[in-house]
Amino acid sequence: MSDLRELYQQVILDHNKNPRNFRELPDATTKVEGFNPLCGDHYTVFLKIDGDVIRDVSFIGSGCAISKASASVMSATVKGKTRQEAEVLFDTFHKLVTGETHVSDDLGRFAPFAGVAEFPTRVKCAILAWHTLRSALEGEKQAVSTE
Ligand code: ZN
Repeated sequence: MSDLRELYQQVILDHNKNPRNFRELPDATTKVEGFNPLCGDHYTVFLKIDGDVIRDVSFIGSGCAISKASASVMSATVKGKTRQEAEVLFDTFHKLVTGETHVSDDLGRFAPFAGVAEFPTRVKCAILAWHTLRSALEGEKQAVSTE
């Protein structure tokens, strides 16, 4: 298990160092800011929505490694998905980082975040980008705060 843990940590560090979709989206149809005052994480999530499909997603901002890696994975995971699929992914990720479910093979790229469940203060870091995504999908314009 410790080897696996190390591997997962590397995945998070890699996403933190080379975040996917880390840019502004000039033709975004919506963008929402998200804050986690507890840790100082602050991101803006950009979405390009076409009907029911998330055509493109990106983010900018700064924060701890977990928050940035989570935003990176979120952006890579929901791109090309429908609103409903994104909602299911939100639930899956949320349950994993709050310890409601445990790692299984089908969790795929969410698996590295399973360890977050052991650190309740980091759950907000991990879930920030997802909450921001959800608000954007719901058409909210106001900034999201985890507090
Ligand atoms: Zn954080």
